[in-house]
Amino acid sequence: MTQWRDLYCGDVRPPDVGRTLALAGWVARRRDHGGLIFIDLRDHTGIVQLVVNPERAPEAAQAAHAIRSEFVVRARGEVVNRAPDAVNPNIATGEIELQVDELEILARSEPLPFQLDDDNVEEPLRLRYRYLDLRRDRMQHNLRLSATVIAAIRTSMEEQGFIDIWTPTMTLGTPEGARDFLVPVRLQPGKFFALAQSPQLFKQVFMIGGLDRYYQIATCWRDEDLRADRQFEFRQLDLELAFPTREEVLDVLERVVVASFEALGRTPPVRPFPRLGFADAMLRYGSDKPDLRFGLEIQDATDATRNSEFGVFANADRVRFIVAPAVFSRAQLQRLEEFAKEWGAKGLAYLVVDESGEVRSPIAKFLSADELAAFAAPPGSTVLFAADTQAMVERVLGALRSELAEQLGLIESRDEFVWLLDFPLFQKDEETGRWTFVHHPFTGPLEGDEDLIESDPGRALSQHYDLVWNGWELGSGSIRIYQQEIQERVFRAMGMSDEEARAKFGWFLEALQMGAPPHGGFALGIERFVALLAGESTLREIIAFPKTASGSDPLTGAPAPTTEERLSELGIRLRTPPA
Ligand code: ASP
Repeated sequence: MTQWRDLYCGDVRPPDVGRTLALAGWVARRRDHGGLIFIDLRDHTGIVQLVVNPERAPEAAQAAHAIRSEFVVRARGEVVNRAPDAVNPNIATGEIELQVDELEILARSEPLPFQLDDDNVEEPLRLRYRYLDLRRDRMQHNLRLSATVIAAIRTSMEEQGFIDIWTPTMTLGTPEGARDFLVPVRLQPGKFFALAQSPQLFKQVFMIGGLDRYYQIATCWRDEDLRADRQFEFRQLDLELAFPTREEVLDVLERVVVASFEALGRTPPVRPFPRLGFADAMLRYGSDKPDLRFGLEIQDATDATRNSEFGVFANADRVRFIVAPAVFSRAQLQRLEEFAKEWGAKGLAYLVVDESGEVRSPIAKFLSADELAAFAAPPGSTVLFAADTQAMVERVLGALRSELAEQLGLIESRDEFVWLLDFPLFQKDEETGRWTFVHHPFTGPLEGDEDLIESDPGRALSQHYDLVWNGWELGSGSIRIYQQEIQERVFRAMGMSDEEARAKFGWFLEALQMGAPPHGGFALGIERFVALLAGESTLREIIAFPKTASGSDPLTGAPAPTTEERLSELGIRLRTPPA
C-alpha cells in the first residue's frame, strides 16, 4: 500500500504465506516466551501475530524487548503458517503469523491510564483519554456503524429526489421549546446570534423558494439539561417537501429507516409502520412514545368506579389500571407504591389475584361484584390502580408500565416502530398558564380544526407526527401552516400580540404572503437512531466527543473562561466573575 504497510493487520490470510510484508499498527500485547517474543499488532481491521526470533533477527529482538502496550510499530517479515496447535480459530488471522526480520518503533506510549481490554473503565476517564477509548472495539464499531448509516440515509434521500442544502447555524432564535445558545457579535456589541435549534424556518423558506425537496444532516444546538438521550449539540436528518400529503412524508422516512437497516445487513421493519393516535397512545400506554415490545396495556375503569364505595375511586377524575402477570408480595407492592409516588401518585391501590383465583387486597371489601368484574384479572396476577387527574394517571401508569416490563422481563427483543399521529395543537404552559405549542408554532391545525384555534384551543388537533422506535422518540415533523392568516391566529392563541409576532417573525409572515405552497417535513435525530441501531443506551457511546452531564468536554476542558480583553471587545461584563 505505502512505505508504511502492505496490508492491514486484520487482512493477512493463508494465501499470503510466503510473502514478505510490512505491517504497521499498535501493540495490543507482548508476550516474552524466553527466546521467542510474540506481539499482537492491531489496527482498525483486527489483530495479527508477530513472532520475533532472536536467532533469526537479533536487532528486531532487541527492539521487541523495549516495546510496551500501545507503542506504534512497523514490522517486516515473512508470512508463515502457524503450527497446528498454535492456530487461533477466534481471530480471522489465526492461521498465520509474521516471522519478523525488521522491527521499528515509530512512537512510544506512556503507561496507560486504563487497559484497553478493561470493560469497566469509568466514563469520565474514558472521555478524558478519548483517543485511547476510540481505539477500542466498541467505539470503532459504533463510529463506523454511524458512518454507514449516514451514508445510507444520504443515498436514500438523493434517490428520493431530495437535494442537500446548507442553512446558517448562526441565526435568530428558533422556537423548538429549548433555550438558545447565544453568540455575541464583535462588530455589533450587544447583539447576539442564536445557534439554530433546528433549520425549521429556513427549510420552510426553501419551499417558498421553489426548491421542492430539501434535506440536510443538520447540526442543532439546544441549551437543555443533558440526559442519556440528549446532548447540547446533535444532528438531525432534516427534510421538507412541497405539496406533500402526510402519508408521503411518512413514506420518505420509512424508506430511510429501511435503507439504514439494509445497509447494516439487518432485517428491516415492514412498511408501512403501524400508526397510533396520540389520545389512544396516552390511554393505552400512558406515553406519547410507547414501547410496543410488550403488552401491559393500561385499561380504563373510570365509568365502572363512578359509584364506588371506595372514595378514592369514586372521587377521582380518572381511574385506570394495569394487570401485571405476577403475584406480588407485600414488600414488592410497597416498592411499586414508592415508585408510583416518585412519579407523583398519592398511593397505589392493588388487587392481588393468587394462583387459586382468590383476591387479596385491602380495598376489595369496598368494591362491588360489578367493579371486580370490570377489573377481571386471571389467577396469578396483580391489578395496579392509579386514581387521579387524567395527566397524573397517564404519567404514573406510563412509568409503571415500563418499570413492570423491566422487572418482569417482558420486553421482547424485536423492533417496534410506530407513528404517533393527531397530537393536540396546543398545551397549557404550566408556569404561565398560557396556551403554547406542542410541537412548534408552525405546525398546521388538522384540517377542519382551524376554528378551534380561538374557540377551544385545547381541543384543536394538529398535523404533527412523531416516529417512535422501542419507546424512543426518533423525531418529529408536521404539515405546516402555509397561510399567513392562520399563522397569525396561532401566534395570537399563544398570547402573542401582533406587534410581538411581527417583531419576532415578521420576515417569515411576509414570506408567507408571497406565494407559499403547502409544505411539510420532518427531522430524525441521527444520534438517537444510531444509538438504537448500535444497541447502546446513551448517545455518548456513539458520539466521538460527547459532553458530560454537566455540559463539559473532559478531553479539551471546554467550556473555558475567556479574557477580559475578549469580553470587552464583545461589550460584555460578567455579573459573576468566573470561579
Ligand atoms: N424542526 C422540528 C424539530 O426539530 C422538526 C420538524 O418539524 O420538521 O423537531
